[in-house]
Amino acid sequence: MSIAERLAEVRRRLTEAAGRAGRSADEVRLIAVSKTFPASFAEEAYAAGQRDFGENRLQELLEKKSHLPMDCRWHLIGPLQRNKVRKALAAGIQLIHAVDSMEVAGTISRIASEISAAPVQILLEVNVDGEASKHGFSAVELKGLWEKIVQLPMLDIRGLMCIPSPVEEAEYARPAFAALRKLAEDLQQCGPLPLPVLSMGMSSDFEVAIEEGATHVRVGSLIFGSRRYTSEI
Ligand SMILES: *Cc1c(COP(=O)(O)O)cnc(C)c1O
Repeated sequence: MSIAERLAEVRRRLTEAAGRAGRSADEVRLIAVSKTFPASFAEEAYAAGQRDFGENRLQELLEKKSHLPMDCRWHLIGPLQRNKVRKALAAGIQLIHAVDSMEVAGTISRIASEISAAPVQILLEVNVDGEASKHGFSAVELKGLWEKIVQLPMLDIRGLMCIPSPVEEAEYARPAFAALRKLAEDLQQCGPLPLPVLSMGMSSDFEVAIEEGATHVRVGSLIFGSRRYTSEI
């Protein structure tokens, strides 16, 4: 199958999953994760109408962005180190998905106040499985930090993201997705922010994520094929 055909198939499944949840497909943004694939693959997806692209490394994002037309929206879905924040903010990224600590959040806000006219759109990554080895805030931690984090002046916190541990069946990921949505609801109760974005769901489980309220799904291998090597998440 061509990339265009695979993309059409993913879009069809996305629409069906949204329908099952009584949602419109327009409420779900499909991010094509082109990491490890050459820019020509992303160009093929572009030709098939795809505009949102995700990369998990800043360097690779910049490299691919330079090859693709200007109307693409780029999503940094991997962790951002503090020493790369300045570069990331200069890159014209649509959304930084995986802000995983107070330090990184603070650094983004500080550097944005030097170089950026508008607050930077970010998501906070939540470690929904509570595994110590993983990136992200725990739910308890995030609730505790909430008052402090919403005060960072140059952050536009749009919502939450998660990368649950791989599971054998998509259905097993459902509790993690439901937990992320619940956390977003709880935080909205605390105010003062609306948190409209939930970035969750990958090739193996994006339909379940949509049923649980995902607004952004990050799909790589289903569109581009299996990766030769897996880059670090
Ligand atoms: C690689 C990656 C994806 C896409 O994974 P697939 O299983 O290929 O769909 C999604 N999210 C993040 C954070 C990733 O690093």
